[in-house]
Amino acid sequence: MKKLAALLMAAVVTFSLSTSAFASSVVSNGKIVCIDPGHQAKANTAQEPIAPGSSITKAKVAAGTHGAWSGLTEAQLNLQVSLKLQSILTARGYTVIMTRTTNDVNISNVERAQIANNAKADAFIRVHANGINSSAVSGVLALAPSSSNAYCSNIAAASQLLSACVVNGQAAATGQKNKGVSQSDTMSGINWSQVPVTILELGFMTNPTEDLNMANSDYQTLMATGIANGIDQYFASLAAQTAAN
Ligand SMILES: [Zn+2]
Repeated sequence: MKKLAALLMAAVVTFSLSTSAFASSVVSNGKIVCIDPGHQAKANTAQEPIAPGSSITKAKVAAGTHGAWSGLTEAQLNLQVSLKLQSILTARGYTVIMTRTTNDVNISNVERAQIANNAKADAFIRVHANGINSSAVSGVLALAPSSSNAYCSNIAAASQLLSACVVNGQAAATGQKNKGVSQSDTMSGINWSQVPVTILELGFMTNPTEDLNMANSDYQTLMATGIANGIDQYFASLAAQTAAN
């Protein structure tokens, strides 16, 4: 009996040693990614400037859309996908900063950008989902500042590359319609950003098929894997550009 206990003990020790060896085998790649799961449980209609020094204001946190078929709010969906993206990126060696890990928070869009800025993030991924007054529209798209943005034109080129990489990565992984990259200079979370930023609109919660797909855990893993592939591609493209210069 004692022998059996000793054997069991040895097996447990061996197992925990190999588990910890596996955990420490993730080598940091030196890149910091900030993930912002868009929205939160309750909207905050208090106003804040849409850009540093701007007299134009917007709600600190809008309500977001929702899925009539899934029953999910956009805040819930964004968080579910963001948490999966966090674990995939962490396993690939990224340092990941989350602006939120629960829905019950109150963090404005400006504050979210400041979290990315303060972390000196190499990429700021704002995860959102779309809604429109037509159930026929579907697909993934990304938003980036234009090169004439009055506040963050210095990050426009990198943000457009980042946006293209993540939207292409997700579309390749899921087979969703790829609606490409649009430019936007009216988003607080973009205008306040000092680091390359993208708003990724995962898909349309107002389309029944896409809403139900996006609520499925396996499909969420597929989306998150595609986004992570896009982030890998972004840093590979930057490295190739640097090597060429
Ligand atoms: Zn949103």
